[in-house]
Amino acid sequence: MAQIIEQVKLMTRYVFQTETGHILGVAGPGFAAMEMAVANLVVPGSKVLSVCNGFFSNRLAEMAERVEANVLRLVVEEGQSAEPEVVADYIAQHQPQVLTIVQGETSSTVCNTNLAAIAAAAKEHDCLVIVDAVCTLSTMECDMDEWGIDAVITGGQKGLSCIPGVSLIGFSNRAWQHIESRSDQLRHWCLDAKLADQFWYKKAYHYTAPVSGILAIHEALRLVCTETLKVRFDRHLRSSKALQEGIEAMGLSLHVKPIARLNSVVGINLPMGLKVNNYSARCLIATKLKYPVRLVPI
Ligand SMILES: *Cc1c(COP(=O)(O)O)cnc(C)c1O
Repeated sequence: MAQIIEQVKLMTRYVFQTETGHILGVAGPGFAAMEMAVANLVVPGSKVLSVCNGFFSNRLAEMAERVEANVLRLVVEEGQSAEPEVVADYIAQHQPQVLTIVQGETSSTVCNTNLAAIAAAAKEHDCLVIVDAVCTLSTMECDMDEWGIDAVITGGQKGLSCIPGVSLIGFSNRAWQHIESRSDQLRHWCLDAKLADQFWYKKAYHYTAPVSGILAIHEALRLVCTETLKVRFDRHLRSSKALQEGIEAMGLSLHVKPIARLNSVVGINLPMGLKVNNYSARCLIATKLKYPVRLVPI
């Protein structure tokens, strides 16, 4: 297992495009990794700027509120990527300690295409940058070191094509210095990066690692490394473009304009006049059991 962990860290460095010595695995969903980034980098009472394009980016803001940060939401107009100049103005004006942003917003199918410029603006004001790359990692470029990102998080089941429930997080050296310099005690125990570091770097016990999940992540990362990032990015783009063109050829329209469109999750507008009722397909199976079972057809 120790050997597997070493290889997972090594391969994650390649996939995140980073040389950081602070890659950690998380026994939990993508949200747990997001919460780990927030809990470790956001000090209660500090200022956080959350760039919001939809559900997942709003959740990052909510997590920051839960650790009692003073959160400012920059709500990006529907269907648009965050503009670096606007984000830079907010940073200069409000001087947040941490900025949260998603690379791909699954709920609105918008891609924040200017992460490098946004991270650079944050760096000028000593603001740490957390990027949610759950649905984008390994499907498109995300250069943690070159772009100056302080925490990249990803879940297993989206861009990585692995299983849910096991996630990865990478902290930059700058982020790690901040974590080490904190004198307050973290409210989370499982998500405490300093405790997780004991397992991931010092072969000590934190909690029992999800062995089968880590083996699955190892295999997913191995496949990315074998394919290589460049080839994988091209494959994803080609497949997505083919899907998009196919959808348009059917007479349907796509939700986001090409300039801000996320390619790993494609949003299709509902045709006029079509209503979707989530519950209409459900049925109740009345049984003679003491506790009736409600089944949803799949
Ligand atoms: C799915 C998703 C998450 C959450 O992942 P879970 O494994 O469901 O917790 C977070 N961010 C983005 C952008 C996602 O698409």
